Amino acid sequence: MRLRLCRWRAIATSNCCESVLYTCACLTASDCELHRRGTLRPAGLPWLATKPTSNVICTPLQEASDAMNISRNMNELTRALFLDRDGVVNHEVGYLHRTEDVVWMEGIGPLCRTAMQLGYKLVVVTNQSGIGRGFYSMTQFEDLMAWMRAELLVQEIHLDAVYCCPYHPEHGIGEYKREHEDRKPGPGMLHRAEQELGIDLSRSVSVGDRCSDIAAGLAAGVRQCFLVQGTEAESCPQDHIPVKELAEVEFWLRKHS
Ligand SMILES: [Mg+2]
Repeated sequence: MRLRLCRWRAIATSNCCESVLYTCACLTASDCELHRRGTLRPAGLPWLATKPTSNVICTPLQEASDAMNISRNMNELTRALFLDRDGVVNHEVGYLHRTEDVVWMEGIGPLCRTAMQLGYKLVVVTNQSGIGRGFYSMTQFEDLMAWMRAELLVQEIHLDAVYCCPYHPEHGIGEYKREHEDRKPGPGMLHRAEQELGIDLSRSVSVGDRCSDIAAGLAAGVRQCFLVQGTEAESCPQDHIPVKELAEVEFWLRKHS
């Protein structure tokens, strides 16, 4: 993959006195042009989250090596950090569907920001049988995720995609009562991400709090699975690394990337 580096000076619109030189790494000239035509983010805002295409990364240019770092990250964008939601992104409360019940997991912000810096796409893969059971609707789930994504964006964290599986083979109602490869331990959601986001699963990492999360990751062929301890009463039989804190995953990413 050949990268094209573009540089230009932009006036930050939220701060009339600030002028920032940005460097962007793009796959094509048209990507650069798209970005140059008015979509640059003001300084201090999460431009990564609002890039017009997935083929562009921009950062304020601070030193010459920035350009090389951006270029390297672009070439590594095809790997992903797969995150289970409940018990990894937020605390498990049982069929979460209200914003007031969201309690963020300690360390999720630093983990996500580090993963982004290392070139991982952030992909949430979550079983949501509460939809199939009739506890809440798909629309309620999507509204909650929109709120969570906005909250994360304030922390300069951009989720590249969210996949959910609403089915349950026994307790689902109507069309939701069925087996489905998306339901973990099935690898369906990870395979969808592979196809739709261009993910290299063999270079990707998954984090979950249940044995079914590990099973899904291994079935998909990810490089390393982590289990956040506390939800499962006993250890899981599959190959994985157990962690007490998300900071341990962040440390691993830094060490192995
Ligand atoms: Mg979970």
